[in-house]
Amino acid sequence: MSNIDFEINKECCRVITPSQLPTDKNWISYSLYIRIDDIEYIRVGKLGSFRFAPGDYLYSGSARRGICARINRHLRQEKKLRWHIDYLLAAPSVQITRVRLSTASECRLVAEGGGAVVVSGFGSSDCSKSCGSHLRCLSC
Ligand SMILES: [Zn+2]
Repeated sequence: MSNIDFEINKECCRVITPSQLPTDKNWISYSLYIRIDDIEYIRVGKLGSFRFAPGDYLYSGSARRGICARINRHLRQEKKLRWHIDYLLAAPSVQITRVRLSTASECRLVAEGGGAVVVSGFGSSDCSKSCGSHLRCLSC
């Protein structure tokens, strides 16, 4: 298992390009390290509305093709809300602080990241393991 981390700075560097990635590895999954600064009440698509406490969160997903495009979509503010994570990232005090790309499965990233399930089923509609949620709160 290999990982590569990108610190995400508010002012710059909000795009990841294939040239930044070692080409000898198959980067198929990612984790977003997310910081929530204020209490947020967010409607997460069809899952419902939830209260998110301020703190640190970890979300893991996969993109077997076009992983840079996927990450850059997460980093971009303007977009149609489609996935659960889109609703979370659209909230005012929510920001991505670090992105990790990995050769491991997204479920392994969830398992190794630890943390608590705060919204059952978040991002895990097609989860083949029993993660419960692909979003975890690291500080709850
Ligand atoms: Zn899973």
